[in-house]
Amino acid sequence: MMKSVKDVDQANLCIGCGICEGIAPENAIKLELGCDGFYHPHVKNQDQEPWDKIKKICPGVIVNQETKLNTKQEKLWGPISASWVGYSTDEEIRWQASSGGGITGLLQFLLEKGLVTKVIHIGRALSNSLTNTVYISRNREDILKNSGSRYAPAAPLTSIKKILTDTNKTDKFAFVGKPCDVAALKAYLKIHGEFQEQMVILITFMCAGTPSLKGTEALIKALGVDQETVEDFWYRGRGWPGQATAIDKNGNHFSRSYNDSWGSILNKHLHFRCKICPDGMGTMGDLTFGDAWEEENGYPSFEEQEGKSLIIARNNKGKNLIEQAVNNGYLKVDNYSLDHLEKIQPYQAERKKLIGSRILALRLTGLFYPQFSGFYLRENSLLVSLRENINNTVGTLERLSSKSKFNYFVFKVFSIFSLMIQKIGIILRYFLSKPKS
Ligand SMILES: Cc1cc2nc3c(=O)[nH]c(=O)nc-3n(C[C@H](O)[C@H](O)[C@H](O)COP(=O)(O)OP(=O)(O)OC[C@H]3O[C@@H](n4cnc5c(N)ncnc54)[C@H](O)[C@@H]3O)c2cc1C
Ligand code: SF4
Ligand code: SF4
Repeated sequence: MMKSVKDVDQANLCIGCGICEGIAPENAIKLELGCDGFYHPHVKNQDQEPWDKIKKICPGVIVNQETKLNTKQEKLWGPISASWVGYSTDEEIRWQASSGGGITGLLQFLLEKGLVTKVIHIGRALSNSLTNTVYISRNREDILKNSGSRYAPAAPLTSIKKILTDTNKTDKFAFVGKPCDVAALKAYLKIHGEFQEQMVILITFMCAGTPSLKGTEALIKALGVDQETVEDFWYRGRGWPGQATAIDKNGNHFSRSYNDSWGSILNKHLHFRCKICPDGMGTMGDLTFGDAWEEENGYPSFEEQEGKSLIIARNNKGKNLIEQAVNNGYLKVDNYSLDHLEKIQPYQAERKKLIGSRILALRLTGLFYPQFSGFYLRENSLLVSLRENINNTVGTLERLSSKSKFNYFVFKVFSIFSLMIQKIGIILRYFLSKPKS
């Protein structure tokens, strides 16, 4: 059993959401960037670590989807009240944001109509354009500045208790974060019902994973710019999907396409917790945004075009707010059937189906593993072949096998078993296939 955030971190399960720091007494826990380019929690005062509370909310320990899911589609993609494809009607927001500016367009509506007074989200740190920091945005200028996806560690919850307690009772908040950030905040709000009403909406996005800062550094290197001279940097946006772009002190631009930045550099640096994430679809908040890629020959197309956001309402609250934003002219949307979602978000679907077999590997090794409930992992794992499941268990065991001799033994047994299944498959196919005429 895990007994401290140190155990979560040592088990490689800390994704750096920051809520442990955010709810502990001041200076008891501090998140710091490690030499691996990820955040790690440092317990500065063990006696003050509120572990009994942390263990109920830390997404490295527990994520509990409590909404009852009925259909096969919901068991894979999470609760669905409505789904659309759309964009912000504010041209500048649509252009600068990651996809269609759906999130920023909705935030603009919420702030300008007084439904919320403050938005808690992250953006580029002023001191270093490669790192992220938490901001409280109050107007269009702030939210526009913080729009766009940041494919590097971000800890939006490091001051959450302070933000919620040091506030005017009339303040109303929107929160934007990765699905694991939202899961942590939702679990915290369940314990602290007194903040529920002030937290008007939890907004998230589909998330394939957080790359380490090493990924960003590799990307900067590939752009051919000296990291020391970078003045401004964004991963995408300014078009859809837009290009990863660095600007140096002399105003020179260095760019690389989304496919060549995310697809061939950043996604090689993902955190281990992301490989076993049951909630990359972002099922725990009120609204989930994503890329509404066009489908081309059964795959997503990354051709540059005007931005479009995929929007999924997870409940009636999310649905009503999108409808109001549309009626007030802030968003334009069309209904969108999720029947083809798997074609435009293949990684999300595949990972969800394989998480069960990856977690099985953790269980077999006796290492710590998180409690994920309500994600139908076993049922989803039946959507792929036994061979794929075994390969994923073996692959995960392989990654973990260096930890102990016992693990290595389990890994070897599984490797042999997996090889046998593959060979039997080849033999059966050979004898059972029809001879060619
Ligand atoms: C790490 C990561 C992985 C992603 N994986 C996928 C995917 O697999 N499929 C998919 O369809 N979409 C993915 N996205 C989401 C996609 O890039 C867009 O963010 C999403 O479509 C919303 O676009 P938008 O134009 O509505 O958002 P915008 O209007 O640009 O607003 C983006 C909002 O997200 C917040 N934000 C940005 N980066 C982070 C971060 N690292 N942590 C917390 N908050 C952040 C910003 O503060 C801002 O409020 C990913 C995003 C990130 C950051
Ligand atoms: S609460 Fe967040 S930052 Fe703290 S240990 Fe858990 S995942 Fe890491
Ligand atoms: S993949 Fe999951 S664990 Fe990783 S950053 Fe995204 S939501 Fe968090």
